[in-house]
Amino acid sequence: MEIPVLNEIMRDTVVEVDLDRIAFNVRQIKAMAGPGTQVAAVVKADGYGHGALGIAPAIMENGASLLAVATLSEAVELKQAYPRYPVLIMGLTPDRLLPYVLEYGIIQTIDTLAQARLLNRLASEKRQQAVIHIKYDTGFHRIGFPDCPESLDEIRQICTMPWLKPEGIYSHLALKDDESNQVQFRCFMDAVTELEREGCHFPYKHIADSIAAVDFPEYRLDMIRAGAIVYGLKGFHKGQLDIRQALTFKTRISHITPVFKGQGVSYDYLWTAPRDTRVAALPFGYADGYPRNLRGKAMVTLRGKQVPVIGIICMDQCMIDLTDVPDAQIGDQVIIYGDGTGNTLDIDAVSRLAGTNKNEIVSRLTRRPPRVYVGGENVRTADYFPERMTP
Ligand SMILES: *Cc1c(COP(=O)(O)O)cnc(C)c1O
Repeated sequence: MEIPVLNEIMRDTVVEVDLDRIAFNVRQIKAMAGPGTQVAAVVKADGYGHGALGIAPAIMENGASLLAVATLSEAVELKQAYPRYPVLIMGLTPDRLLPYVLEYGIIQTIDTLAQARLLNRLASEKRQQAVIHIKYDTGFHRIGFPDCPESLDEIRQICTMPWLKPEGIYSHLALKDDESNQVQFRCFMDAVTELEREGCHFPYKHIADSIAAVDFPEYRLDMIRAGAIVYGLKGFHKGQLDIRQALTFKTRISHITPVFKGQGVSYDYLWTAPRDTRVAALPFGYADGYPRNLRGKAMVTLRGKQVPVIGIICMDQCMIDLTDVPDAQIGDQVIIYGDGTGNTLDIDAVSRLAGTNKNEIVSRLTRRPPRVYVGGENVRTADYFPERMTP
């Protein structure tokens, strides 16, 4: 029997993404950046859980000029779907995988002379230029050429390699405080000035992520790397940027059961009913990317009321107490988290309850819940396998 390709939404638990909001946010970011500063939209970790393939057109058609990811597989997935969008890998790619970078025309971050030489050789064999961005370490101590004269000498050598096109040079801020940012920024500008004086030329010099781009206009340079703000997640403190959260995580009640006073719910009976009540099962759990450590803290929104998630959060399901919503029924929609309107918890609130940051809450969403795209021209869905996306 042939297995049919399923374009239906196969589950009641979905990640809904408002493409109009993504588009709005990118237009706001581009307006903030101004005409002299390009916007690289960071869509690593499957577009911070929103589904990189589903949101890429809304991003690129509203002011971004580059998509930035962390890994080769993320870049290849985007290039297969959208060969014309420029894609930068901000992480390092192992030597043995460099042929893929050329094959797909991906822009690669480089931070060693040895790998630059190898890529130059592979590119010359293919007679195809490789576009690169040089990573310079100004103190984060993650990746990048260390800040020293030998590095400048090596970068100068890279600039003379005939099959490499060093289109950018960049660094990343630790964001410890204003003073340490300034130390890193000066270090970066000193290195770049020195390199440019000696004949290197980099069209895109960049150092600002979302927070730095909003809070420190002087750090925007030729390009900003905007991640969180594309999705409407605000981590900045000083600047202003009107953006809207685009993601809502929702489900529907799958089952309702009576629970009598003193009876337990879920593993280890860590929750016992203080009174006779009804308990609803919801078909989502930690395997969907919902933090298991929200036990005893999580609230979800049902019929406009916040109701508590009770007991241990299971891999695929969790339970809520229906005491405050006595007329709830199987099939009722439940907002796991939304944008804060309609009495929902927003991603910021959930991240605080879970003791983490907003980026972690969304980037850990797995591919199991289908993505549903609303806004834009029409509703589209992506269920687990991106190739199943329907027009
Ligand atoms: C993830 C990442 C970004 C984007 O970070 P946000 O804080 O989400 O804007 C920018 N630059 C690099 C190098 C990154 O890894």
